[in-house]
Amino acid sequence: MSAVNEPVKNDFIRQIIREDLAQEKVSNIVTRFPPEPNGYLHLGHVKAICTNFSIAKEFGGECNLRFDDTNPLKEDQEYIDSIKSDIHWLGFEWSGDPRYASNYFDKLYAYALQLIKQGDAYVDRQTPEQMKLGRGSFTETGTDSPFRDSSVEANLAWFEQMKNGELAEGSAVLRAKIDMTSPNMVMRDPALYRIMKQSHHQTGDTWCIYPMYDLAHPLSDAIEGVTHSLCTLEFEEHRPLYDWLLDKLSIAPRPYQYEFARLNVEGLITSKRQLKTLVDSSAVEGWDDPRMPTISGMRRRGYTPEGLRDFCERVGLNKAGGTVDPKLLDYCVRQSLEDKALRAMVVLKPLKVTLSNFEALDEGEVLTLTQPNHPNRPELGEREIPLTKTIYIDQADFELVPPPKYRRLTPGSEVRLRNAHVIRCDEHILDPNGEVVELICSIDTDTLGKNPEGRKVKGVIHWVSADLGVPVEVRVYESLFLSEPDSEGELVLNPDSLSVLEAVGEPSIKDAAPETHYQFEREAFFVSDQHDHRTDKPVFNRVIELRDSYKP
Ligand code: ATP
Ligand code: MG
Repeated sequence: MSAVNEPVKNDFIRQIIREDLAQEKVSNIVTRFPPEPNGYLHLGHVKAICTNFSIAKEFGGECNLRFDDTNPLKEDQEYIDSIKSDIHWLGFEWSGDPRYASNYFDKLYAYALQLIKQGDAYVDRQTPEQMKLGRGSFTETGTDSPFRDSSVEANLAWFEQMKNGELAEGSAVLRAKIDMTSPNMVMRDPALYRIMKQSHHQTGDTWCIYPMYDLAHPLSDAIEGVTHSLCTLEFEEHRPLYDWLLDKLSIAPRPYQYEFARLNVEGLITSKRQLKTLVDSSAVEGWDDPRMPTISGMRRRGYTPEGLRDFCERVGLNKAGGTVDPKLLDYCVRQSLEDKALRAMVVLKPLKVTLSNFEALDEGEVLTLTQPNHPNRPELGEREIPLTKTIYIDQADFELVPPPKYRRLTPGSEVRLRNAHVIRCDEHILDPNGEVVELICSIDTDTLGKNPEGRKVKGVIHWVSADLGVPVEVRVYESLFLSEPDSEGELVLNPDSLSVLEAVGEPSIKDAAPETHYQFEREAFFVSDQHDHRTDKPVFNRVIELRDSYKP
């Protein structure tokens, strides 16, 4: 049930459910998330997952996970495993064990027999080309198959032969007998079963005929006692067939299908087929490449389940659709990180600084400073930051010829080292190419935790000890595609979508567990890599920039 302070969501689907409950059409809400295990889940699926699982939870009902595994050619156990893991990571739990449409193949077959016996389905022995021609088009009605009026006995015998593997693939199809003149093409005697001499990841070689989605889906919903079958708008035309099957088979109580708009995010691919092409062509490193809008990719990138769920709630459920600004997603992820990310100092492009009077601090070789891990959350503890004679600052924090209003370090100027003292740049050392390779700075020893006497130092820069800092591999991601498509309108891969930096971080970060979120101060949000981060070789991915002017 929703928490006390949460506004009551009132989209059209929730309204329907409230009505159904009020009128006692149903008592226990059952939804399902029905992925086909033919790829990894993507951002679009996040919306379907949030919708189905959240609605069930809000109304005290249940949501099943059902693999819609009716096409063994494209399916794989790897996809099943990734889908389960993605749903858990998003923070949802399905009711009971995962289910499979293939669990119901016996029942679906029995329903098919019932349709044949009732005269509501027939085996079509035309060639696929003849069948295609016979369906007509949007402007032309279809024509009846010569097999449409075969006897029940003939149909039963052929269906039996299909099942026994006695007929070749493509030589026979079980079709619903509905209406070849229907303006809805889906209703022109749609296929219900086809021959596929293909081993199945769940049922092995038991079957060589497989039900079509249009048969399997409504009947699996019914078998599971689903009350509200929520899907995306492209299934709207299939709803009459959904209803036709449940009517013809006199199934009660029965599920009802409702359609909502797909989630489309500007510039992001939400199609498993297109994502698979990127993986197969090695344009990315795999399904969980942090540049991929797959759930596993976004997870590795450091997006949070809270951010993704918040995003889906803000997008909401409707029938109108449209394209969502990716900045909304970034906004939600950033919001979720503010309270969660630990702080650390990491220098992405190191410039050596020697603190000429370090000895004047009288602290031996190391001055150990202590800072909270999070400015507003003392319960997250503290960390020790060592200051030593040689440190690194970022190359971007020093300019020989500063632009106007530059508040960082320049020859002769002062700046505060974050969490430490004020320093002044006394000298800079150039290499033979005229590049700055080192700064010699002096510490104002009386400025730890207080302002210097008689002057204001406005700039603050981050730094790490050169002696005790740890090398960090930092992976910075940009969008996978260029913003401009090519002349044919095709997306063009961004050659700079990944850059790898050899950075140096304060020692505390090497102890981070994989998938720990950080704000590298003054830089961005980062996450320790799920697979590659190790204490002896820290690896961090850039999640997102610290700020953006975008307001939802
Ligand atoms: P794709 O086109 O990427 O292959 P799909 O719809 O074929 O996606 P399924 O595995 O069949 O993928 O989808 C499972 C569920 O997720 C379906 O109910 C489908 O409607 C829903 N879904 C898929 N894409 C989106 C999307 N972009 N927005 C909302 N729901 C989606
Ligand atoms: Mg699909």
